[in-house]
Amino acid sequence: MYDTLKAHIVQRFGESEQRRIKKLLQELELGDMRPSQLLREMRKLDGNGMNDAMLKLVWLNRLPPDVRSIISISREPLGKVACLADKILEARDGPQLHAASNAVSSVPNHTLTQQIEQLSKEITILKSRVSSQSRNRNRSSLRNRPQTPQSTAETCWYHFKFGDNAKKCRPPCTKSLN
Ligand SMILES: [Zn+2]
Repeated sequence: MYDTLKAHIVQRFGESEQRRIKKLLQELELGDMRPSQLLREMRKLDGNGMNDAMLKLVWLNRLPPDVRSIISISREPLGKVACLADKILEARDGPQLHAASNAVSSVPNHTLTQQIEQLSKEITILKSRVSSQSRNRNRSSLRNRPQTPQSTAETCWYHFKFGDNAKKCRPPCTKSLN
């Protein structure tokens, strides 16, 4: 039904008006507007080209489905229906939520995205820094470990370190000097 109406409207208005009509039918979204505000914007764009019944159909099409289903039953004049839609949306979302969503949307979206990207970059840098630090710590602890060979019960320090080339020997040792 909506598509038929759209075709009818596009047909009815001249080529010059099609862009305006297209905006009215396709680009105008509820967004942060109240339903009554949206209706006013539509009326402005329409410029009395459509009767209220047509306008109502276009306007309803932009409302959230649950609100639309309640509103579409109403036989009240379009202006009153718009007020009703405002109230339903307000009752559903609450005025606080609307205020909050306005505050959020006043921060440009790309800034938020940039901040998130920046944060994840910093986390990546921090992660690599931490892992390289722990690597260094392992390496330095290896370096700091005493390099002097430990003599065992069977082998003295000299034989342990120099093997058969040992020039000295210290008891107790099972090996002998050459
Ligand atoms: Zn020895």
